[in-house]
Formats: sequence, structure tokens, C-alpha cells
Amino acid sequence: MSNIRFEALKTAFEHKPTAVEMPEGKVKDYFAQDVFTREKMKEYIAQEVLDQLFDDVDNGRTIHRDIANVVAIGIRKWAMDHGATHFTHWFQPLTGGTAEKHDAFFTLKNGALMEEFSGDSLYQQEPDASSFPSGGIRNTFEARGYSAWDPSSPVFLIGDTLCIPTVFVAYTGEALDYKTPLIRSTAALCHAAREVCAYFDKQVKHVHANLGWEQEYFLVDESLYTARPDLLLTGRTLMGHNSAKSQQLEDHYFGAIPARVLAFMRELEYEALKAGIPVKTRHNEVAPNQFEMAPIFEDVNLANDHNLLVMSIMERVAEKHHFRVLLHEKPYAGVNGSGKHCNWSMSTNTGVNLLAPGKNPYQNLQFITFLVNVLMAVQRHNGLLKASIVSATNEHRLGANEAPPAIISVFLGKQISAVLDKLEQAKAEEAIIINAKKEMKLGVANIPEILLDNTDRNRTSPFAFTGNRFEFRAVGSSANCGAAMLALNAAVAEQLMLFKNEVDARIEKGEAKERVLFDVIKKYIMACKAIRFDGNGYSDEWKDEAAKRGLDCETSVPKIIDNYVLPSSIQMFEKTGVLSAAELHSRSEVKWETYVKKLQIESRVMGDLVVNHVLPAAKRYQTMLLQNVLAVKQVFSADETASLNAMDYSIIKQIEEHSGAILEGVEHMTDARHKANRQVDERSKAIAYHDNVLPLMAEIRAHADALELIVDDEMWTLPKYRELMFIH
Ligand code: ADP
Ligand code: MG
Repeated sequence: MSNIRFEALKTAFEHKPTAVEMPEGKVKDYFAQDVFTREKMKEYIAQEVLDQLFDDVDNGRTIHRDIANVVAIGIRKWAMDHGATHFTHWFQPLTGGTAEKHDAFFTLKNGALMEEFSGDSLYQQEPDASSFPSGGIRNTFEARGYSAWDPSSPVFLIGDTLCIPTVFVAYTGEALDYKTPLIRSTAALCHAAREVCAYFDKQVKHVHANLGWEQEYFLVDESLYTARPDLLLTGRTLMGHNSAKSQQLEDHYFGAIPARVLAFMRELEYEALKAGIPVKTRHNEVAPNQFEMAPIFEDVNLANDHNLLVMSIMERVAEKHHFRVLLHEKPYAGVNGSGKHCNWSMSTNTGVNLLAPGKNPYQNLQFITFLVNVLMAVQRHNGLLKASIVSATNEHRLGANEAPPAIISVFLGKQISAVLDKLEQAKAEEAIIINAKKEMKLGVANIPEILLDNTDRNRTSPFAFTGNRFEFRAVGSSANCGAAMLALNAAVAEQLMLFKNEVDARIEKGEAKERVLFDVIKKYIMACKAIRFDGNGYSDEWKDEAAKRGLDCETSVPKIIDNYVLPSSIQMFEKTGVLSAAELHSRSEVKWETYVKKLQIESRVMGDLVVNHVLPAAKRYQTMLLQNVLAVKQVFSADETASLNAMDYSIIKQIEEHSGAILEGVEHMTDARHKANRQVDERSKAIAYHDNVLPLMAEIRAHADALELIVDDEMWTLPKYRELMFIH
């Protein structure tokens, strides 16, 4: 009888590194080769049109149709010069990932074939919106949705297809994607931040939000992957006993990259660089077969497009190397999961990073102002920020194996904490010295430029200050970073607006600006203590302490999602113009719906795996043992038989017990699922899946994993953890 696992292993061992054809030249020779950059646009589009376009883009204004028409002609020419035959609007529906609908570059006019790509095709398309989740928006408002050009992110080529980054909205204007509110949130943040910058530097015209993501992922050999129905259908292993060796030796992290993986990474980087993604670092991660790639940070909207693009490039390139990429947050129990740390900062058109300590007291006061306002925003909306990162998949990662816990707090590190503590104690008279030249000096704000050494790090912190940026580490590896970034941008925008109102009101009453700034910051430092936590996020004391501080300690994903529709969230999103109440309700619906669907699939796959893979293998082995017992009885005396068969007896019984428990578990799980499905609304369904189905899956798994340890290796048909994680 053939064993699918052994066949898969044989094929996996035959997989050798795939040769990668790379050009001879330097990176700059092919960087952004597939992108219609501003530089290239000059070759194809008249300068006065471009001047208008860039001015509109940079100032967030709508592009006029006439301009779009001219730009479209240039885009088509460039794309066709580079072999494109089709174009697509490329958008980010709430399902996660990206969506495309390809159209050819021609049309029929009076029976004749004409090449065509008009301003209209660039501007707007109508994908069949009904197949994307809307959380009820389309039912309540309008049936149709359309995608519309985002001119702030350049068009690019994938193979023979021109991709146009677009937003995806309902006809009534409600966002059906992540990009729309992300763009709205950067506009709100930039406006609010610029107003606050004006206290320090009138030259500041623009503030940008930056994002540098670090994408973690696992690779697995494709033949082993296809022999695991759970990986294939759910992206994670639903069972599998821990490998004797996993990550305990910590020998994988920053270790030498295996040859086959290196070949994959080289090609991935090459493809990413051609797509204009400035990837810079690659290395092994902590778990076996886990890796990371990170680019240089960019404007948040562009960086997010690039992350989504990289995820699809990864999948494409991996297949060429007979790997599959696992972007799931927790493909394997017991080892580290994958996150996507989002490094976030704000910078000005004058080149100042608002989250970096400055060179003079004024800049330092500005730095402290922004830092403290971020703390206030994260504190006020800690539940919402958690909602922005949770999912059925990230749920398994949070709180385990070095991943951040399910409580949002901010790690500041020793030096910054000391600076805030000192400011809190200081009297304005000591802290602010204004000399005869009207220069201001801050007695306490002498902050060294490089703040953090590597020991001052806390991997388990969900939101950490890392010297010149915040690192939102709770974000999951498969997520669209947009969800987290738009919540953060909006929360900080709201906070900066509140800050400005408070400061302005006092300045209007005649108080000195520096004095007011100092006072309000000092007040904030005292008010935002609840969110600051540098200790061990895993300890039980922290859970108690966090609850006392009023932080959101909920661990059930369906209930965490409630934070989207808290009055404070709705008010904040409406005030900043990022999302309306209707959009927030629809988003939470989609989140619950997706949660239910994912768990439903997992639970079904689980049932299939145990009934059709695990139990048959266990039964086969049990039968073999029973035959052995009988054979022993025929050969040996009754006295001898008892001791000779003792071990077999014990294993036969263990198999019986585990198998019985599995069958019973599957029955209960199926019942629980049916009950959950009968709940009237998506939220109740999601809660029922979380409370009643998920725990049964864990129980069944424990028995299946126990059987894996007992059953003859040759009879086990599912590739084991040691094979999935150590073969490359
Ligand atoms: P680490 O693993 O030590 O956190 P990496 O070098 O892997 O650091 O990734 C850091 C990421 O943070 C990169 O994408 C980098 O470009 C980005 N980054 C650095 N400075 C900033 C900043 N001021 N704002 C946003 N992102 C930043
Ligand atoms: Mg990092």
C-alpha cells in the first residue's frame, strides 16, 4: 500500500535549488523597471499636464477628467511599449489580499478592432461588486460598486498586464476596501499634524505618515504542503505533534540561509525591486523555515500597496522554487508565529522626523509633543487598535511564543521613560528658559540622538517605540496593514486636533505659547500612564494590572471586534472623516462574517482529517498489534504471553481511547457548528464558533497528536512537523 507522505518526502528530497537568472548590472539598472515612475512619465506626457497632475496629487486634489485623458494615453503607450496587452484596476477588498479584473487594450468601433484605453478606463471601472463582502452596505444603499484610480500610487506591470492601483467604493460613496479610508486617514493626520507643527516651524507645508513593514513568512516544500489538506485549505496545520527539535536551540535566527531558500529570496528580491519595492533586508526568523523580508519605509499608502504586491509576488515566485509561502500568522503550534511589524512615523516636507529627538530644544519639544500625543491616542483607542489587528488567524498568534499579548500597551524604553518622568516633575520655570534673544531652552529636553541599544528591546510589546518610530507589532503577517494604519492615523489625528484646541484656547486667553505647550504636555504625561508598560506582557500580574488600568483585556476576537462600533470609535472616525458609522458597522459585519467562515472551514477540515487520515492509520496499526498478540499466544505459554504482550496491550488500549475520544469530539464539534450556524446574526455566530467550536478543535487535536506519537511512523500519512519545518 502506498503512503502519500512517503511519496511527498521522496519528491521533496529531489527538489534542488532552482537556478535564478539575474541581470549582470547594479540594482539601480532594474529598480522600478516595471513601474511608470514620475521620471518615465516625462517621456510620455507633456510637461504642463504633468505639472498639473503632480500638483493635484501632492495636494490631495481630484484629478480633472481632461488631465486623466491625456495621462491615460501616455500610460497606454508606455505599457504597450513594454509588452502589455491587458489592464486591470487593482484594489483591496475587505476579504484581504487584492482583486483584479483584466480587460484587453482594445475595443470594437464599427466592426473594426481599435486599440483603446481612455481616461474613463483609467479613472473608473465597475467590477462585479456583488462578489465582494460589504457587510450589508450594498443592500442598504446601492447594488453597484466601482473602482477609481488612485493617482498617488504609480501604475505598474505584472507580466502582460498593466495594474492601476484603485480605491473600491459603493456608488453612494461608502468605502468597500482598505485603501479608501487609509487615504482619508493620512489626509486627516497630515492636516492635524501640520497644524501642530505650526507651533514650532511655520515652514512645514506637508506631513507624511510613513510605513516600513517587516513581512514574516514560512516556506514549506510544495509536495509536503499538498499532502497536508489542512495547509492547503486553511493555511495552517490543524494538528501535528511538536518536533523533538524545533526552535529551542535558537540556531535558525540569523543563521545561514539554506541554498534553496536563498535562490527563492534572490528571485523574490529581483521581482520586488523591478516592481519598485525598495526591499533591503532578508533573514531567517526564529522558527525553523521562517523568514523575513523588509523594505525601506515609504509613504504609508504606497508602502501598503507594495506590501500587498510583495505578498502576491512571493506566492508566484515560491511556486517556481517548489515551495509554498505560508502567510498565516500561526501555521504551526508551539513555535513562533508570523507577524508584520508596522514601523510607523510622521515626517515633514522640511525633512524632519516628528518622532525623532531633535538637535535643539525646540525640536525636542516638538518631538515630545508628538510622542505624547501618540501615547494619548493609543491609550484612548487601545481597544479599537486591537480590533484593527485581530482575525481568526492572528488569534492563534497573539499571546504565544514571543508574539505580543492581546492587550495593547506601549513600550518606551528606559531613556524616553526617564525623559517623560523628568518632564512630569519639572516646573515650567526650570524647564523653559527664554533668553534675551527670545530663544527657548529646555532644561530637561536634552535627549541623546540614538536612544535604544539592542538590549533595550521587548519583543513581546505590541506597540514599541524604537528610537525614531513606533513599531506596531501586533499586526498579523497575512493582514492588509491598511486596517491597522488607518486606525492609528485617525486616532492620532483626532488626538492632535484635541491638543491644538486646548493649546489655542489658552493662547487666545493671552498665555505664552511655550508655557501652554509645556503645561498641556505635562498634563498628558500624567494622563497617559495607563498605556505605558515596559515589563513582561505575558505575566499574570500584567493581566490584572492592565484590567485595573482600564485597558481592553478581552481575548475573544468576535468581542474585540465590537470596538469598531463603540461610541468613542464612531465619534473619532466621523470627526476625522475617515469612516462613517455605516461604514464601521459594515466593517465589523465583514469581520464577524469572515471569522465564522474561516472557523467553519477549519472545523470541517479537522473532521475530515481525523476521520479519513488519522483514525484509519491508527486502526491499521492497532490491527497489526492485535495480530501480533494472537501470534504470540500461539507460540508461547500463557504465562509468557502476558508479559510479552503487555506493551501491545497498552498501546492497543491507548489507541482505542484516543480514537473513541476523537469520534466523540467530532460529533460534538459538528453539533456545535450546526448550533452556531443557526444563530441569527453574524456576531452571535462568531461568538458561538469562538466559545463552542474552537475549544473542541483543540481537544480533538490533542488526541490526534497523541496518536501521532504512538502509531508506526510508516503508517502515518500526514507529513510531520519535523518534515514540514526542516526540509528545504
Ligand atoms: P528591526 O527588525 O530591527 O525592527 P528592520 O531593519 O528589520 O528592523 O526593519 C525596520 C523597518 O523600519 C524598515 O522597514 C525600515 O525602513 C523601517 N523604518 C526605519 N526608520 C523608520 C521611520 N522613521 N519610520 C518608519 N519606518 C522606519
Ligand atoms: Mg522590527
